Amino acid sequence: MNNIKSCSRRQFIENIGQFGLAISAMPAMIDVLFGSGRSVFAQDDTGKFIEVKHYKKLPDNAIQCFVCPLDCILLDGQTCFCRTRTNHGGILYNHAYNNPCIINVDPIEKLPLYHFLPSTKSLGIATGGCNMRCLYCQNWQESQEIPDKLKNFSMTAEKLLDSAAKKELKSICYSYTEPVSYYEYMMEISAHAHSKGIKNAVCTAAFIKKDPLKELCKTADAFTVTLKGIDQEFYDKICGSKIAPVLDAIKTIKEEKVWLEIAHLIVPTYNDSPEKTKELCKWVKENAGEDTPLHLLRFFPEYKMKDVPQTPVNVITKAREIALDAGLKYVYVSNVSPHDGNNTYCQNCKKPVIKRLGVAVLENSTDKGKCKFCGTQLPGVYV
Ligand code: SF4
Ligand code: SF4
Repeated sequence: MNNIKSCSRRQFIENIGQFGLAISAMPAMIDVLFGSGRSVFAQDDTGKFIEVKHYKKLPDNAIQCFVCPLDCILLDGQTCFCRTRTNHGGILYNHAYNNPCIINVDPIEKLPLYHFLPSTKSLGIATGGCNMRCLYCQNWQESQEIPDKLKNFSMTAEKLLDSAAKKELKSICYSYTEPVSYYEYMMEISAHAHSKGIKNAVCTAAFIKKDPLKELCKTADAFTVTLKGIDQEFYDKICGSKIAPVLDAIKTIKEEKVWLEIAHLIVPTYNDSPEKTKELCKWVKENAGEDTPLHLLRFFPEYKMKDVPQTPVNVITKAREIALDAGLKYVYVSNVSPHDGNNTYCQNCKKPVIKRLGVAVLENSTDKGKCKFCGTQLPGVYV
């Protein structure tokens, strides 16, 4: 790639070590189940750091980052809030690069994406780091950690794509943690994916500035945006973040005409009132459109919210009714199965065209996204 500067892993760690940062563990080889066999990935010495594109230099070797709306100013030697970017001598490096801590083969439905290459398998990856602080994070061990402290794979974009192509996987999913934290690595992989016949699916909380998002939209084929609530209060209390940039990001993805699905976790007592659900659905319909699938996710106690009970099934079922009444056409229920909301229904003949149990597809009665019963085309990406 052009305009990339890299320094060796040893040089980088030695230098940031001068500033007393707690980066101690080197990546170690770990095994992963890959399809039916053992991992094809093994540790080697390809780990590097990459210069961030979206930042500017300030006096005295300080920098300001413009990847996410936090606009962090970092002095020489400082590592940022998202835990992946460090100012090294006045140059901003991302050290979540070529070192995913998670590599897994998943059904694409797990993202969740139900209108994007249904019934196919995807290569899900993640590095450490996140620019949010959700109290219920399921992957907090990775998202709330500096990548260098995790057990990582050493994996260039090329190696990753070659492996996915060899396994005939249809897409790469950037998920588990927050892809904004490994934006530069994701951009490199996604830029080369199409030449291997592989699509890019991004699961993100979408706390990202417009320019980097628009660049990502050029190579992304689908987004799942986790819209965590519909007001600032929820983002303040639970996510340590701001909602306005997330809403803007959803509008940008629509403007850029990239396939979009929205996931919304319903957390008891925090965002589970019918009024809040109605407000969220109204916003989604007006700004993302009635064809945008909405996934309503059941909450399970996790991380710093272990004292909050799981979402009652009747609350999720009611939320789905509210969403359908609000005019959204494709409303799904996740983390509850069996449930009518696991299936995709044709809007014309009303038959279940994709029957699921949880994220597992039981029966797919579509052909290139067309209902086999009446021929109506479903919205989404199918070839
Ligand atoms: S991406 Fe990281 S360094 Fe950049 S503004 Fe956001 S938190 Fe700060
Ligand atoms: S945005 Fe996602 S990865 Fe980050 S803290 Fe929240 S739930 Fe975890």
